[in-house]
Amino acid sequence: MPTGNVDLHIHSTASDGTLTPAEIVARAQQQNLNAIALTDHDTVGGIDEFLAAASSTNLTAIPGVEISSLFSGREIHILGFFIDHHSPELLAFLDRIRDGRNARNDEMLRRLRSLGYDISLEEVKARCGGDSIGRPHLAAILIEKGYFKDSKQAFERCLKRGAPGFCPRKLPHPEEALRQIHGAGGIAVWAHPVYRNKFARSHVRGIIRKIKPFGLDGVEAYYPGYTPAQHQMLLELAEMFDLQVSGGTDFHGDNIPGLELGTGYGDFAVPEECFVRLKRYHDVLRNQPVNISQGE
Ligand code: AMP
Ligand code: MN
Ligand code: MN
Ligand code: MN
Repeated sequence: MPTGNVDLHIHSTASDGTLTPAEIVARAQQQNLNAIALTDHDTVGGIDEFLAAASSTNLTAIPGVEISSLFSGREIHILGFFIDHHSPELLAFLDRIRDGRNARNDEMLRRLRSLGYDISLEEVKARCGGDSIGRPHLAAILIEKGYFKDSKQAFERCLKRGAPGFCPRKLPHPEEALRQIHGAGGIAVWAHPVYRNKFARSHVRGIIRKIKPFGLDGVEAYYPGYTPAQHQMLLELAEMFDLQVSGGTDFHGDNIPGLELGTGYGDFAVPEECFVRLKRYHDVLRNQPVNISQGE
C-alpha cells in the first residue's frame, strides 16, 4: 500500500462541490492520498461514479454522506461513513431532506427576487450537477452576475442564517440522522464541531454529552479551519467520551477558493492511521447486532 494521507470529508458536483466524483478520484491520486470519503450534502447521488472511478486505482474509496440536522436551534452536520448507499430507507430519508431543501430554495429565490436580485430556479438547476441544490449554487450565480465579489460576501450580506435572503429549511433531529446512518450499516461522526470559530469548549462538550447517547461514533478532529488549540480540544473530548477521531478538508472545489483536497490551505494532513482506526471500529461494530430501533 502506498504511503500517504487521507481525506474523509469531500463534496462533489452531486452537491455543492465543483469537481465530479471521477475528477475527485483523479485529484486524490495527484495528491497522493490513500483513502478518501465522498460526503455530499444530503445525497448519495455521486457514490456509484465515485466507486467506479476508484476501482481502477489503488485508492480506498469510502461511500459517505453529510446530513444536516437541527439541535437546540443550531445546525449540526453528521457524516456517515461506510454506508450502504443503496439502502431504500436511507434513500427515502435523503429524499425527504432534499424535499425540504427544494422548498427552502424556492422561498429563498422568491426573497432574493423581491430584494431586486435577478435569479431564477432554471439558472440554479442549470449550474447544479446533482440533486442536492444548496446556497453555494445561489451564491455562484449572484457572484457571476456581479452582485457580490465572493461567496463570503454573498453569505454575509444575503444568504447566511438571519440575512435578508435566508429562509430556514426542515431539518431532522440528530437522533434521526444517526439512526439512518446506522440503519444503512455506517458509522456517524459529528462534522466540524467547531465551525467558523463559533463553538466554545463548553458548548461542544455539552452537545457531545447530549448526542452521544443517540449513537454518535466519532468527531471530526482534523479540519482545516481549526486552530491548534481547537484540534487538541477535539482530540481530548474524543478521548474523554470514548469517540473515534475523523478528519477531512471539506473540499468543495472552486466553491471554496484556496482549499485543496488532502492539504486544505497548505499544511493540513489527516494521517492514514485515522482511517485505519475508523475502518477497524466499523468492522467490529458491523459484526455485532446493530443496536438501534427501526421504523418511524
Ligand atoms: P445549504 O446546505 O444549502 O444550507 O448551504 C450550506 C453550505 O453553504 C455549506 O455546506 C457551505 O458549503 C456553504 N456555507 C455556509 N456558510 C457559509 C459562509 N458563511 N460562507 C461561505 N459558504 C458558506
Ligand atoms: Mn457545502
Ligand atoms: Mn458541514
Ligand atoms: Mn461538508
